[in-house]
Amino acid sequence: MSFEFFPPKTDGAQMSLGRTIAELEPLTPSFVSVTYGAGGSTRQRTREVVTWVRRETAITPMAHLTCQGHTRAEISDILDEYRQAGIENILALGGDPASDGDEPRQSDYTYATDLIDDIDAVDHFSIGVAAHPEVHPRSPDRETDRQHLAAKLRRADFAITQFFFEPHHYVRLVEELAALDIAKPVLPGIMPITNLKQIARMASLSGAGVPGPLVERLERLSDPDDVRAAGVEAATELCADLLAAGAPGLHFYTLNKSTATREIYGNLGLTTRS
Ligand SMILES: Cc1cc2nc3c(=O)[nH]c(=O)nc-3n(C[C@H](O)[C@H](O)[C@H](O)COP(=O)(O)OP(=O)(O)OC[C@H]3O[C@@H](n4cnc5c(N)ncnc54)[C@H](O)[C@@H]3O)c2cc1C
Repeated sequence: MSFEFFPPKTDGAQMSLGRTIAELEPLTPSFVSVTYGAGGSTRQRTREVVTWVRRETAITPMAHLTCQGHTRAEISDILDEYRQAGIENILALGGDPASDGDEPRQSDYTYATDLIDDIDAVDHFSIGVAAHPEVHPRSPDRETDRQHLAAKLRRADFAITQFFFEPHHYVRLVEELAALDIAKPVLPGIMPITNLKQIARMASLSGAGVPGPLVERLERLSDPDDVRAAGVEAATELCADLLAAGAPGLHFYTLNKSTATREIYGNLGLTTRS
């Protein structure tokens, strides 16, 4: 079980994240991960949160690192900083190219595999990679997507998936990897929907479709508390199906809040430390 956070921007948000981590620590996650802003925009803040978790809690932290928009010298500095801070786990990501209107960024990298080369060379880190059950939006087709993912996983230790809402997406992904001789652990990413505004943002963020029946189930509810409860219930059902299908664990996109994750844990009867 693992939980994902993003680096907070303000002192208030930082305190709130500290509370969230304290509330989630008794759930004894295998690790928590901290996202990284495209092109290094959160470099400092990601490192602060990751090293704080390492220093102040009993939880193992993992730093996300995207390579697009970075030079090799910058990546080398970042890896050196993490090694010296005792960080042992990196999620190696391609990231996204600068969008229209953004400053163009100098980049020595195009794909996550290029970053894996440099992380491997340090010979210190365990390496995770991203997987996209519903196929990455920039992949020309499903087969090419799976082949690039398999190439990453031959060299990495495990994968975490983009979020999705129907268990068959995960089952099919694992079967397709098995057909390419890949049996490394793939952790399904879980994003509980806790309000209606999230639904529209999902597809634009990740390409993950929210299934019609789930949208209808949530849109029938007018009270925000009922929407939240139904979203948690749907996520619980998804988690139960994934564990029954053999998923080796679950990775929760917490959005820096603990309640939904704790409720799902409770619903699934997962143990917590008192
Ligand atoms: C668990 C998870 C965590 C994430 N965390 C962050 C984060 O912290 N910060 C952030 O900015 N983004 C994050 N993302 C988003 C991610 O950066 C984007 O989805 C990005 O577009 C792809 O990342 P990737 O690592 O899958 O890229 P890649 O593995 O580089 O793949 C990107 C595309 O290129 C293709 N490709 C790969 N290798 C090759 C090759 N050799 N030749 C041709 N095509 C190739 C792939 O098939 C795919 O279509 C995360 C995504 C996931 C699933």
